[in-house]
Amino acid sequence: MRFSTKAIHVGEEPEGMQHGDVVSPIHLSTTFAKRSIEEVEEGYVYSRTGNPTRDALERKLAALENAEYGLAFSSGLAAESTILLALLKKGDHIIAFDDLYGGTKRLFNQVMERFGIEFTYVDAREPENVRNAIRENTRMVWLETPTNPLLKLADIRAVAEIAHERDIIVVVDNTFASPYFQNPLDLGADIVLHSVTKYLGGHSDVVGGAVMVNDDEIYERLKFHQNAVGAILSPFDSWLVMRGIKTLAVRMERHERNAMRIARYLEEHPLVERVYYPGLPSHPQHELAKRQMKGFGGMLSFELKGGLEEAIKFVESLEIFALAESLGGVESLIELPAIMTHASVPKDEREKVGIRDSLIRVSVGIEDVEDLIEDLEKGFEAVRA
Ligand SMILES: *Cc1c(COP(=O)(O)O)cnc(C)c1O
Repeated sequence: MRFSTKAIHVGEEPEGMQHGDVVSPIHLSTTFAKRSIEEVEEGYVYSRTGNPTRDALERKLAALENAEYGLAFSSGLAAESTILLALLKKGDHIIAFDDLYGGTKRLFNQVMERFGIEFTYVDAREPENVRNAIRENTRMVWLETPTNPLLKLADIRAVAEIAHERDIIVVVDNTFASPYFQNPLDLGADIVLHSVTKYLGGHSDVVGGAVMVNDDEIYERLKFHQNAVGAILSPFDSWLVMRGIKTLAVRMERHERNAMRIARYLEEHPLVERVYYPGLPSHPQHELAKRQMKGFGGMLSFELKGGLEEAIKFVESLEIFALAESLGGVESLIELPAIMTHASVPKDEREKVGIRDSLIRVSVGIEDVEDLIEDLEKGFEAVRA
């Protein structure tokens, strides 16, 4: 089956459904009765360990990333924590991309470091920087590509080749691209992770996380820890994500079409200093994006001419774009990384990776693009005035 057919049908099989439902029902039961003592270990036992609705979602998630296995968690960060707890121990070392989601950096630096996990941050746009950071105790390479908010790319295949020479596990946070535009396992990654809060859910109404893998041993460890740590996705949230995934392909195509139009509009605008979007030929890694991704996604950032004051004026004067964190929903969102999503990163560190005060991040929604462009025009008028 191809992508959309899988997204719509996997996990919705009518077998065993009494009434012939075409949509998987929501199984809220926390426990499952057995007819005899002999059966107590068979099938579903307790919903933290396994639940039919979560199972249906996990099969759908696996199908989207061409993976053997999928696992659903109560948030993207719960998925990340479980990966780290399942596969690492005190004294292990991780090499991570230096431009990561702020919450991931917080989990690494303020939680995992306390348990003796060591981190080195590198500019992973250059795969050799990953090689040069490898130590005796390196167990994992952690990539996000494209990154947030600067849309930097890492060459997954090249990094995986370097890591696998030393049996180092490669994790890719694929939240920005979504499985419709990029499949890291096919490029050599060992573990793919998603904040399903974003494109997979797609409607800004559920917080969740997902992990997809092919390796049996890694899966068994993650599955054990999903139950042992307990950060599972609820049946109702699992069902919402299943519903969201069915329209992922059509949403992503529209997100991308709108983003491309807006990126081109911004690039021509006299009040814009720079646009960051991997679909633009001016993006320094456009060729890698074309090779590694099937599309460029719906996230872009741009720098206004001026500083923080102008950027605030701009975002506050918009009417359709909501001034909000998060991304990946049907509605367009806009935010200022320097004072919102990345405020917890110290200013000098922020500027070192390239996040200036005038940087504006946009999650382009699936509204009519003409309305979005007219709204942005209001922002520019406010800056001019
Ligand atoms: C939002 C996000 C996360 C964290 O996911 P939550 O669902 O908010 O816990 C991780 N990585 C990326 C790239 C994100 O955008």
